[in-house]
Amino acid sequence: MQKRAEQMIPGGVNSPVRAYAAVGVDPPFIARGEGSRLWDVDGNEYIDYIGSWGPLILGHAFPTVVDAISNAARKGTTFGASTPAESDLAEIILQAFPGMEKVRFVNSGTEATMSAIRLARASTKRKYIVKFEGCYHGHADALLVKAGSGVATLGIPGSAGVPEEFTQFTLALPFNDIDSLELAFSKYKHQIACVIVEPVVGNMGCVPGSGGYLAALRLITQRENAVLIFDEVMTGFRLAFGGAQELYGIRPDLTTMGKIIGGGLPVGAYGGSSEIMDLVAPLGPMYQAGTLSGNPLAMAAGLATLRHLQQHKQEIYSRLDKLAGELVDGVAAAATDAGTPVCANRVGSMFTWFFTAGPVSDWASASKSDTETFRRFFRSMLDNGIYLPPSQFEAAFLSAAHTENDIHKTIAAAKRTFAPARAGSAGS
Ligand SMILES: *Cc1c(COP(=O)(O)O)cnc(C)c1O
Repeated sequence: MQKRAEQMIPGGVNSPVRAYAAVGVDPPFIARGEGSRLWDVDGNEYIDYIGSWGPLILGHAFPTVVDAISNAARKGTTFGASTPAESDLAEIILQAFPGMEKVRFVNSGTEATMSAIRLARASTKRKYIVKFEGCYHGHADALLVKAGSGVATLGIPGSAGVPEEFTQFTLALPFNDIDSLELAFSKYKHQIACVIVEPVVGNMGCVPGSGGYLAALRLITQRENAVLIFDEVMTGFRLAFGGAQELYGIRPDLTTMGKIIGGGLPVGAYGGSSEIMDLVAPLGPMYQAGTLSGNPLAMAAGLATLRHLQQHKQEIYSRLDKLAGELVDGVAAAATDAGTPVCANRVGSMFTWFFTAGPVSDWASASKSDTETFRRFFRSMLDNGIYLPPSQFEAAFLSAAHTENDIHKTIAAAKRTFAPARAGSAGS
């Protein structure tokens, strides 16, 4: 199947990390998922800690989500016209995120961040944007910039096919470093339109802002009249019902979303105050459109997911936090007991075991991880039926469908992985 796919699709995949290039094995082809479990086409069963890279907080094939999608499909899949479901989903999102008064739906996180940046530039009439090294905001040209660790270095494209001119207004700064941000604002006085950040980074592995970092971003952007964009594509409805902004008590000017709000179908969204959102066409001069945006299937899946989360948020988020804590500590202890250095980062149900002594607080410290140890860990866990992100630099997720039993099995697999002899003699 992999060979067949490779003949027609670059690398055999429709998104690069699925190719397992970093871990040197062929990726499983998935036949089906249910709850916390996945089955591949060879009949192997896995406990899934990817959850489609974030969307599946309720697990695979959650019954009310499946019903919502099939009910919607029977009435027609897309009209390119308004439906009541769009306002239903908007309403529940705006309730959860009180800093947002209006929201616009798009089809992916990439579209959401690209549009939010266009809007920030439209509202400030400034050109420069600030992003942080190791943060991923989708694959729009101006955001595909890693850049070195130099302070306020002009953007260097992180992909072929992106002319330097397209990233010359992108400043890539180290995460968790307020001084470099202050320097950028003084060097580019009144020229920085926005600061975009993953409030808890998931795309260099899980890396939270250190104490006061997000609050400082809020203060500085306010002082400089720049737009603060929280990219909550991963963290929205994941870390709390109201996302990272609820967890940390900070209101950005614009928020981007995706993943969970689509309940497993392709959706993105961006939103903020009415004042800024009313700059979007047809009310204002900032153009953004989409043939399938707000389509009935995606709205139905997102609505079923968010309604379930809303009704059960008290139990769901505290249970996710508790179970994820047990899992992350248990696997980290298995590594430590075997003498393998590990730094476990976790916020709620988002986590990464970095194979380095740590602490991991930015891209420079994350990239010190021993990727060969990660590779061995990943492959052994996969052989033991544990499906983890195939990269040291991607966060793993727990879903509400995971059980204590899943956690115990996963910790047992980690013990066998790190200390095969000892685990064997213990008779497990
Ligand atoms: C996944 C992700 C994106 C991109 O979303 P797509 O739907 O893959 O385009 C953007 N920002 C963050 C923080 C993400 O995790």
